Order: sequence, then C-alpha cells, then structure tokens
Amino acid sequence: MIIVSDGIKRLIKALGENKVSTSDVERKLYSYDATPIPVKSEMPSAVVFPEGKEDVKRIVEICYEEGIPMFPRGAGSGLTGGAMPTDRGGVVISFERMNRFKVDRDNATAVVEPGVVTYDFQKYVEKLGLFYPPDPSSYKYSTIGGNVAENAGGPRCVKYGVTREYVLGITAVIKHGTVIRTGNPVIKDVAGYDITKFFVGSEGTLGLITEIIVRLIPKPRARRTLLALFDDLPTVGKVVTSLMTSGVFPSALEFMDKDAISVVREYKGIDLPDDVEALLLIEVDGNPPSVEEDVKVVGGILKDAGVSYRIAKDGKEEEELWLARKSLGPALAKIKSGKINEDIVVPRSCLSEAVPAFRSLSEKYGLPVVIFGHIGDGNLHVNIMYDKSSREEEERAEKAMEEVFDIAIGFGGSITGEHGVGLTKMAFLEKQLGKETVNIMREIKKVFDPLNLFNPGKVFS
Ligand SMILES: Cc1cc2nc3c(=O)[nH]c(=O)nc-3n(C[C@H](O)[C@H](O)[C@H](O)COP(=O)(O)OP(=O)(O)OC[C@H]3O[C@@H](n4cnc5c(N)ncnc54)[C@H](O)[C@@H]3O)c2cc1C
Repeated sequence: MIIVSDGIKRLIKALGENKVSTSDVERKLYSYDATPIPVKSEMPSAVVFPEGKEDVKRIVEICYEEGIPMFPRGAGSGLTGGAMPTDRGGVVISFERMNRFKVDRDNATAVVEPGVVTYDFQKYVEKLGLFYPPDPSSYKYSTIGGNVAENAGGPRCVKYGVTREYVLGITAVIKHGTVIRTGNPVIKDVAGYDITKFFVGSEGTLGLITEIIVRLIPKPRARRTLLALFDDLPTVGKVVTSLMTSGVFPSALEFMDKDAISVVREYKGIDLPDDVEALLLIEVDGNPPSVEEDVKVVGGILKDAGVSYRIAKDGKEEEELWLARKSLGPALAKIKSGKINEDIVVPRSCLSEAVPAFRSLSEKYGLPVVIFGHIGDGNLHVNIMYDKSSREEEERAEKAMEEVFDIAIGFGGSITGEHGVGLTKMAFLEKQLGKETVNIMREIKKVFDPLNLFNPGKVFS
C-alpha cells in the first residue's frame, strides 16, 4: 500500500473516491502500454478517471498547484511508451470514461470525447453514410484521443491522409487548468496560428485534450481488393511508382515480404503461395463503375510488369486477405519471442533501394528481419526479431534498430510514421530534425506547460 500524499488526497476530495484509484493492482495495470521492448516506467501514485471536461480542469488545477506530473492515457495501445508514467509520484489520467460523441450529419462533422474507441465511432458514422478514414490496426480498441495525440495512421491513409487531416479543432486543458479551444466545425478557418496542429501528434506533452472536432467525408460506395505476387523486389518498387502515377488512387497499398507471407500463412492458415519474394495488397474504392474501371487499370499495370495477380471474388475473400495483413503483428511471435517493430518512412521512389538495405541487416546482425507495411506512403514496419531471454541478442537487435533509423534518415525519411517518439525513439529525434528544431519544440512546450508536468520525459528530454 502506498502512503497517499496531500496532493492525491486533494484529488480524491475534489473528484470523489470512485474517480481516483490508489489500489496497487490498478496502479500496476496502468503503468505500462503495448510497447514491446523493455522500457523503464514507474508506478503512478494514483490513476484518475475523469468523466467530463470539468473534472479534467480540476485535475490540472490541483496537479499544477501540487507539482504532480500527469500521464494522459487512452487505451494504452501505444508502441513507444507514450502513456507510461516515468516519474515517481505522478498520476495517470485515463480517459476511458470520457467516451461520448455527437455527430452533425448535415455539416459532416462530429464532436468527440477523447476516450471514444475509433472503431465504435467509425461504425456509427458509416450507418449515416459518412466515413472517418483513419484506421490504425489497433482501431478496434485504441481511442480517438490517443490517435490524435499520436497522429495515428493506417492502410487507408495513402489515399485519405492521417488523423491530422480529420481534426478541425480541439479543446484542451493546459498550464494551471487554463482551457483553450482551437478551430471550429468548418473546413475553412484561417484565423490566427493553427494551434490545433500543435496538439495533433503532441503525445500528451502540451496538455490534456478533452474534446475533438472531427471532419467526416462521404462513405465510398464500393471497394475491391487485388493480390499481386512478385518474384523480385525491384519490380515491387516499379509497380508502386506506376500505380501511383496512373491516375488511379488506391485506397490501400500494402506490402509483405517473403518472411511475412510465410509467418502469416502458418499462423492463420491463409492460402498464400510459398515461392514468391513479396506481395502487394491493392484496394481501390469509390463509386461502383469507377471502381471496376480502376481494377482494370491496376490489372493492366500488373500484367505489363509480368506480375501474377488475382482479384478477390467476394467480400469473404477480401476479408481473408486483409486478415493476413492485420494478423502480422501477433503472427511474428512465432519467429522469436522478442521484436523491435520500427515504423520508419522513406520517400516512395527510394523503396527499391531501401527495402534490400533493411533486409541486409538480417545477415549483418544474425537476426531475422521481417518487413511489411504501407508501401504506398513509404511507411514500412521493419521488425527485428530476437530472443527475449538473451541479453546479447537484444543488444544486437538494438544496434540493428539504430541502423534502420540511419538508413531511413539517409534516404530523407523519418524515424516514425505512426507510433510516435514516446520514450523509445527520444535518442534519435535530434538525429532526424537537428538541434535547432528540437530546441524550438522545447520552447513551444514551455508556453503550454512551463512546469513540465504534462507527460514529462517523453519525445525529448
Ligand atoms: C497491434 C497494434 C497495432 C497498431 N497499429 C497501428 C497502426 O497501424 N497505426 C498507428 O498509427 N498506430 C498503431 N498502433 C499504435 C497505437 O495503437 C496508436 O499509437 C494509437 O493511436 C494509441 O491510441 P491509445 O488510445 O491506445 O493511446 P495510448 O497508447 O493510451 O496513448 C498514446 C499517447 O496519447 C497520449 N494521450 C492519450 N489520450 C490523451 C488525451 N486525452 N490528451 C492528451 N494526450 C493523450 C498519451 O499520453 C500517449 O502519449 C498499434 C498498436 C498495436 C498494439
């Protein structure tokens, strides 16, 4: 049992006992997220469950007066330690009870609380003929607040863009409990600095987001999926370039290398060949006649490149193909107990050089390297597999990871396209952006959080 500090007692008094937990079990449960590599976290002094904006304002007022660090948390599905408490004495603010939303169908916008699960929201708006595209693979449990704080993306982002493109405004509680509101439920709004964008991808370091205004678009009326099989990697790069310059705009363009294909075939028993170097899953969407036309164009490009392909004949086959892609994360555990799953980005035109460069690390470090990802936007998951029980293998994997970042930066890309910097990539941010840019970020943080109490120790030190 912990000794409850005066600050935590004030939180309990202000919010009530059912919104502040100091139990050992809950403090332990909320002290980690889904980050696969070992990172050091601290047990929080309490887990706080706000139920509305007023609760959040009160929490920040008290924490600012008492100097208590705050660690905001959505569903804890982050992969870089973003929601993990790093300071002894801090509190986790879990937004799971703030899960209401209101859709304005006529204006195609919605006001969403941060704890809303992305999938639940998507299913609801689709029934109204509307569409909220951001689709991280964790969409069935991750929250819109977490997605906004990480600027999450997924397969559809090649066509529809990442979470950033759908956030029109936010309400947030910053230093001393000050409430700020940015943006409006309108597409065009150029009044003043775009502070909304500061919060998108801020990883909880600027303040606590209590409300998000999102933009919705019309739901596409049809969708088709093609599976293309490749005997060599350079042809993959050429086909991706041809597709993206053909006038067809794929709604998803996903890549799996031969190791990824073999692991998912064994894991899910999905009918995929064992003698190919790579595959592409290509989805097109839109109005039914234009989708049929797009399928023909894509088929023509694959045929001209000498690539064999098939068009999923029905929804069931489509689902099975996408299941193969979405099962890759858990399937990897079949290869080795540990993985470092990087989400680097390189410009699309560099892919045919970059993919072999990443693969060559397997031989250099004597570890399996499995590559898959959103090749249409140059965002690849490079997975370095290692045995968790061997510290020596883990160290080799960490060295290989540093080289993955160097390769991505060398091609003019990024150390992260999806998972954010959090704790695990802090040491590499300056390498990509340079000292001056990171210093500007530090200055910006001070404006919102002069006492460094919002998610301290994340993104940069
Ligand atoms: C199997 C799996 C697949 C994944 N696939 C993808 C993928 O395809 N694309 C992708 O982008 N990510 C992916 N992720 C990573 C993760 O799901 C995303 O980063 C997601 O956006 C995190 O949402 P969450 O609700 O779990 O947030 P958490 O992990 O709880 O928190 C994430 C960050 O948001 C901050 N935060 C949360 N709520 C608030 C708030 N109200 N105010 C301020 N800050 C807040 C936290 O402090 C933290 O820094 C995947 C994760 C898993 C486990």
